Amino acid sequence: MSDNNIYVTRSSIPPMEEYIEEISSIFDSHLLTNMGPKHHTLSNELTRYLKVDNVSLFSNGHMALELCLQAFGLEGEVITTPFTFASTAHAIVRSGLTPVFCDIDPVTYTMDPSKIEALITDKTCAIVPVHVYGNLCDTDAIEEIAKKHGLKVIYDAAHAFGVCKAGKGAGSFGDASMFSFHATKVFNTIEGGAICYSDDKIGEKLYRLRNFGILDQETVSDVGANAKMNEFQAAMGICNLRHIEEEIGKRKALYERYMSHLRNIPGITLCNIPDDVTHNYAYLPVVFDENVLNKTRDTIFADLAQENIFARKYFYPLVQDYDCYKDKYNSDSTPVAQYVANRVLTLPLYADLSMEDVDRICKIILK
Ligand SMILES: *Cc1c(COP(=O)(O)O)cnc(C)c1O
Repeated sequence: MSDNNIYVTRSSIPPMEEYIEEISSIFDSHLLTNMGPKHHTLSNELTRYLKVDNVSLFSNGHMALELCLQAFGLEGEVITTPFTFASTAHAIVRSGLTPVFCDIDPVTYTMDPSKIEALITDKTCAIVPVHVYGNLCDTDAIEEIAKKHGLKVIYDAAHAFGVCKAGKGAGSFGDASMFSFHATKVFNTIEGGAICYSDDKIGEKLYRLRNFGILDQETVSDVGANAKMNEFQAAMGICNLRHIEEEIGKRKALYERYMSHLRNIPGITLCNIPDDVTHNYAYLPVVFDENVLNKTRDTIFADLAQENIFARKYFYPLVQDYDCYKDKYNSDSTPVAQYVANRVLTLPLYADLSMEDVDRICKIILK
C-alpha cells in the first residue's frame, strides 16, 4: 500500500537483495536467536561505529533501558526529564523506582543541570537525562553533580545514534547509555536497542538479565526478562549500518534546506548544532511563538494536515500530564518544558523526502 501522505518519518530499509543475501546463512545454520553470529557481528560493528567501549544488544530500546536500571541495582528516586517519549519514565516506574521531573534548558530542550541539585533528596539514586532530538545534554555539568552526590547517570540516547562531541561518541558519557533501533529511528534493526557501558560487571549483568537471569545451564541468578535481539533483526542492522553515512548525509541536505527557509524568521525557533558536534539530523523540531506569528502551533499542524502532511507534536503532552501519571505529578513544576511542549512541532525528515516537499512544507508554515 502506498499513498501520497507525508509522515514525520519513513523507515530506512536496505535493497531487498542485500537483506536476502545477509539472511541466507541463517537458513543454513538454523541459528535464529540467542546471541548467534549476526548478533555477534552487529555488536562488534556498532562498538566501532558508536565509538564506545561495549555494546549489549536488546530486542528493543525500552527493554534495554528497563534492564539497565535493574542491572545497576537502583532503589529510590530517579531525576529525569518530562520532555521525552513515554518509554523513559515508564522504564523508571516499571523498575520499581520513582521519577522526579527536572525542567529543561530553553535552548537544547535537554535536562537543565542548574535545576538538578534542588531535586536531590536522600532517596535519589540516579539521573536519567535524554539527548532529546540528538541534542547532547550538558554531560560535564551532569557528571560533576553526579560525582558530588554519588549518583549513577544513565542516558536515554535513543535519539543520538552516531552523534559525537569533540570525537567522543554520544554513548560514552555517564555510567551507561541506551540507544533505540526502532523502525522510526535514524538507524534501525526493525525493533531493537542497545546499552553502551564501560564496567564489565554491568555487561555480565545485562547479558543475564536479557536472558531470564540465566547464568549457566543449572544456575539462574537474577530475575531477568526476555529481551534478546534475534538474528533477523541483527541482519537488518548489519545491512542498514552499511548505508548509514549516506542516510545521514541525505538528512543533512534536507535539514539545511529547511534551515534556508526557516532561519531568522521572527517567532520561529530552531535548534542550533554546536561546532564541536557531529549530528545525525534525526528530527527537525521547530518552536512557534503564537504572539509573534499570529498563529499557533496547532493551527500550523492543522494547515499541514490539510495538505496531507503529518507533522508530530513531539513531545506533547509532557509525561506528568499523561493519564497514568497526572494524579501524582503536575507539569507546572517544569515551566520551560511546558512552554516548549505547547509550541513545538517536529517536521517531516527522512532520507528519501524530496527537496520540493521541504519547500512545500515551509511555504505552508510561512503563509
Ligand atoms: C524510541 C524511544 C525510546 C524507546 O525505544 P524502543 O526501541 O521503541 O523501545 C525510548 N526513549 C526515547 C526518547 C525514544 O525516542
